[in-house]
Amino acid sequence: MQAEQEDHLKSEQEHSNGGLHPLFSSEDGDIVLGSKDRVLFRVHSYTLKTTSGWFRAMYSLPQRSATVTDVPPETIFVDEDSATLEGLLRMVCGLPVPRLDSYDIIEPILHAAEKYDMPGPMSIVRALVMTPPLLAEPLRLYAIACRYGWQDEAMLASRYTLTLNLHAPEFRSTLQKLSTDALLNLFQLHRTRREALRKRLDDPPFVNDNGDTSCSNCGSLVDYHTWRELKYVIIMEMDARPLGDTVVNPGLLEWPAARACWAAKCINCDRVLYDKTLTMRVIRECIEQLPTTIDPLPPPYPPPILPRGASI
Ligand SMILES: [Zn+2]
Repeated sequence: MQAEQEDHLKSEQEHSNGGLHPLFSSEDGDIVLGSKDRVLFRVHSYTLKTTSGWFRAMYSLPQRSATVTDVPPETIFVDEDSATLEGLLRMVCGLPVPRLDSYDIIEPILHAAEKYDMPGPMSIVRALVMTPPLLAEPLRLYAIACRYGWQDEAMLASRYTLTLNLHAPEFRSTLQKLSTDALLNLFQLHRTRREALRKRLDDPPFVNDNGDTSCSNCGSLVDYHTWRELKYVIIMEMDARPLGDTVVNPGLLEWPAARACWAAKCINCDRVLYDKTLTMRVIRECIEQLPTTIDPLPPPYPPPILPRGASI
């Protein structure tokens, strides 16, 4: 589905055909679109009218007399750069689609597709956003999915964000692009996982701060500060990486707080205080049962957006 690399490179070269893009220079095109960087795309108005609500509306307005046949087609300059316009026109004209493997490529295309009310390009990008290069930045995927109301993609992207610490400074600019609802839903997912595990660690078989705890072997009171410290480290890890995978491994196997806990013994009878195998199993099971995505939202997900006029 992706275009050949040569096509991609070609678009970046100087166009010698009177400024016309070589893929869009057909003589019988009756409209010319000019990109922000002055590349011209000669296309058929029929294509634009049938694929774009914006152009359909524009052509519903009174047009220049159709009896005049020898005038050059009118040129409409738009806000998009040539790479974005090329991508959009390739999709609506049935040409090989450009490489859609980075957010710097797909974001302007989506923006333009929304502006010109072009559901075709929007659907093509949507079909490709779950591919590895884009999944590698789940927070940006989440932002786009929420922005355009793609609920399934938003839910999946939210799952992929669980490896991220949303409080890290590098994510601030992406989080700022989210709607309040989208942002709160994501924070809720991350917090719910941490809090659910924290609560579980206070329930049996774990000891908690309510009342004294005695050695299961000799019955003497035990000091369980090692477990309290490990619990703290577990929660801090869940806060930074809510997926929880690193809690089980290497956390409970290698953290100094974990080693101290597994080594702790009753000062009276010298029996180990904590069952490492049971503790690890219960924590792993709890993490596996935590919610993994944001909750589905009732439609409509985003507010309806009115297309903005292009510069003419
Ligand atoms: Zn004891």
